[in-house]
Amino acid sequence: VFSSFEPRTPIEVAGLLAEIHNDPSEKKVDLLSGAYRTEEKKPWVLPVVRKTEIMLANDGNTYHEYGHFLGSTEFNSAATSFLLGKESIAIKEERTLSVQTLGATGALSIGARFLRQCLGRTHFYLSDPCWEFHEALFMQAGFVQSSRYRYWNAEKRCIDMDGLMEDLSKAEPYSVVLLQTCAHNPTGCDPTPEQWAKIASLMRKNKLFPFLDMAYQGFASGDIGEDAEVVRYFVDQGFEFMCAQSFSKNFGLYGQRAGSLTIVSNCAHTIPHIISEMILIAGGNYMVPPLHGSRIVATVLNDPALFQEWERCVKTMFDRIIAMRTGLKKRLETLKTPGSWDHITSQRGMFCFIGLAPAQIEYLRKKHHVYTLKNGRMNVAGLTTTNLDHVARSIHDAVLN
Ligand code: PLP
Repeated sequence: VFSSFEPRTPIEVAGLLAEIHNDPSEKKVDLLSGAYRTEEKKPWVLPVVRKTEIMLANDGNTYHEYGHFLGSTEFNSAATSFLLGKESIAIKEERTLSVQTLGATGALSIGARFLRQCLGRTHFYLSDPCWEFHEALFMQAGFVQSSRYRYWNAEKRCIDMDGLMEDLSKAEPYSVVLLQTCAHNPTGCDPTPEQWAKIASLMRKNKLFPFLDMAYQGFASGDIGEDAEVVRYFVDQGFEFMCAQSFSKNFGLYGQRAGSLTIVSNCAHTIPHIISEMILIAGGNYMVPPLHGSRIVATVLNDPALFQEWERCVKTMFDRIIAMRTGLKKRLETLKTPGSWDHITSQRGMFCFIGLAPAQIEYLRKKHHVYTLKNGRMNVAGLTTTNLDHVARSIHDAVLN
């Protein structure tokens, strides 16, 4: 039975992670994965997360019963207020719904299924380039057509705003458009508020449905509230939309699968209908979401002192990322590496889209053991004060070769 299908090429990051694992060089640098690392190249358990876990355990709050299909009420209401702001008009008018999901991936997945199965949407648009699982998530939800809108201007190493607007202006009405709200993966380039206003107005004019994806809240500006501004702007503009929210990166809860899908509708009376469909979709996939991560998130979001401590943790990660960006740029400028390296510090979030040719990226890997994705996406959190010199010299060499 299992020999009756052709194996596919493994996804790129999995292949490269295996390659780096088998690379015996002491000089190797892992800039591949999408997770934060400390100066010691280790994953970081946020002190506020550890403290909350201990507190929950000591309080006896670690029962392991099945939760609700749509997740804990405490988590869902905290996630909604945190995303839209406590004073949000949409919350006051009771026209929002948040569903606890298996990370932002789970939110995208059940959101896409709802749009396909309940609203009959068939066509979706993704940025070119985008996160590697976006397309698979929508296709597996039953969407029939996938298109890309231009996003990256390789020559100027910034957003291709003209290309984006041109492609979206040709999109069929009722298409779903996935928009990353901040710290875009993989380019690190986000639209300015003026550009967001243009995108929103085009979306409204062409009846396009916004599916917002916020995987890196806090990593773009260092301020979790400021990073949610785009989502709040869509509420203020009267849009109906979905937003996938991740607590994987900003809480360091990657494997716990803590995320949320928030739906903003224009009519409160639609919410019970959405709930009944969502129960079928979520229940039919995984029955109930996991407990541990969401308990930690809900406890922190609902406790002002823990919340402040968490904000400081996010800022710590942000500051280290900025220091690594600045350090890399400075070294390339000192080496007088041909080209402009301003984009290293103007891009935001955990990723730097370095803008080298595929052959130069391969050279970095084969000759200098510096591993990035083939499109040049580097996880800046993989840089440390001890490997910065090696990475800068390697880029310098790759550019000159
Ligand atoms: N969206 C984007 C743009 C991402 O980069 C990622 C993860 O890397 C996700 C969604 C999924 O996040 P989560 O780990 O919360 O499922």
